[in-house]
Amino acid sequence: MSTERRGLLIVYTGNGKGKTTAALGLVLRAVGQGLRCCVIQFLKSARGRWGETVVAEKLGIEWHQMGRGFVFRPEAQTQDAALAREAWALAQERILSGEIDLIVLDEFSYLFEFGWLNAAEVARWLSEQRPKQLHVVVTGRNMPEALVEMADLVTEMVLVKHPYDAGIGAQAGIEF
Ligand code: ATP
Ligand code: MG
Repeated sequence: MSTERRGLLIVYTGNGKGKTTAALGLVLRAVGQGLRCCVIQFLKSARGRWGETVVAEKLGIEWHQMGRGFVFRPEAQTQDAALAREAWALAQERILSGEIDLIVLDEFSYLFEFGWLNAAEVARWLSEQRPKQLHVVVTGRNMPEALVEMADLVTEMVLVKHPYDAGIGAQAGIEF
């Protein structure tokens, strides 16, 4: 097995909770190893006070939140579509910048689901353009096959239980 440093494409998908938190756990580990990290959250509003962004600020992690919160009627959300494409352009710029070692594209799969980006084109761009040593982590339900296929690591979160189903609301520090 080769121990040479190689950028990985990592996918966290599935219906169970833990995709975003897994990606952020990796960021924590990577920062500890001196890797320069960048997080782009595609659907989260910058207005909310998320536990993770408070810590990111303390640790000096580059962090971008695009979008206006979760989208329920994508066909009516042209503004979200424009923001999403802008966020992908930003991701491409950061990937090519040479200034980072790991990038997280959080809730990336929704851009394909809503038809805002083409999965085959994005997969091709990533395989051709991404620097060899850069780790790319993408999260979201229903990740397109084109990305799953080219990924080095794919983990699917399986829903076994979720507190919402028992009527237990979002807990600070667990959900946000
Ligand atoms: P987390 O950010 O906690 O790691 P996630 O990234 O896996 O969760 P998403 O699909 O991004 O989950 O959904 C975001 C929100 O939906 C979270 O608040 C999460 O708790 C909630 N959620 C995730 N899975 C479920 C589920 N199976 N049933 C109900 N709510 C869920
Ligand atoms: Mg998530």
